[in-house]
Amino acid sequence: MNRKIFLKSLFALPIIGAAMKLSDLNKWTSSLDRTAKMPVLFLGHGSPMNAIEENEFVKGFRKLGKEIEKPTAILCISAHWETRGTYVTAMEHPRTIHDFGGFPQELFNVQYPAPGSPDLARETQKLIQKASVELDDKWGLDHGAWSVIKHLYPDADVPVIQMSLDFTKPPQYHYELAKDLASLREKGVLIVGSGNMVHNLRMVAWNQLNTDGYGYDWAIEANGKMKQYIASGDHQPLINYSSQGKAFRLAIPTPEHYLPLLYTLALKEDKDEVNIFNDKALGGSLTMTSVKIG
Ligand code: ZN
Repeated sequence: MNRKIFLKSLFALPIIGAAMKLSDLNKWTSSLDRTAKMPVLFLGHGSPMNAIEENEFVKGFRKLGKEIEKPTAILCISAHWETRGTYVTAMEHPRTIHDFGGFPQELFNVQYPAPGSPDLARETQKLIQKASVELDDKWGLDHGAWSVIKHLYPDADVPVIQMSLDFTKPPQYHYELAKDLASLREKGVLIVGSGNMVHNLRMVAWNQLNTDGYGYDWAIEANGKMKQYIASGDHQPLINYSSQGKAFRLAIPTPEHYLPLLYTLALKEDKDEVNIFNDKALGGSLTMTSVKIG
């Protein structure tokens, strides 16, 4: 995993200053007649091949894209962007990053040319009190973002920014940081966590990848308990996942695919409905289970 960070040089931006910021902001907040808050999503992204394959998970994403009001922009927290500190992508045109190996050329040929939103990046930077957020102009869209968002918005006509995961911080920190994003839901911004609730690549049963819904007992157990806590709004055991026993330990051997779920859950408000979809195990040690809140 590439953890190298290239800092944006901090010249230029601040001096042009307040006046420009205000008018820029209006561009993406001028959503007409928005009455409802945007939902918040956690999408189980699974294999990068989901970007180009036709299957039930992709159908689930596509259906979702048609159900929800078209957002003014997307803020994605992907398992595949871990950094020291927190960054948001702030370029006008994020590149499509093919951050994987050993897949067919067809997958490397995929481009997802959604625009960025420097305005939303700056707004996000301002909103987050929990951390000092830096603007980034080198990352782009990794496959955790584009392989799923392309099914929601195939025309790449919704601006997308990414926010990184600070790998030095504990789960509770991520959950609290996410809460600072709450007001974006009222501005038409779709917040998407992209990872996998159960994700243990070392234990994948490669010979069972085509067996429908194949999950080890511990994977089914962890996925089931996670769903119960999600449905009941009892988030603390999910934040304290490392104290939840063997099934959770096997399901979450490393935190990066799980933490985006905490960002999504942190944004749940009391009256929000919770819907679970694409709820299926895959290859023994993965689940594609996805969550829509609101
Ligand atoms: Zn992944």
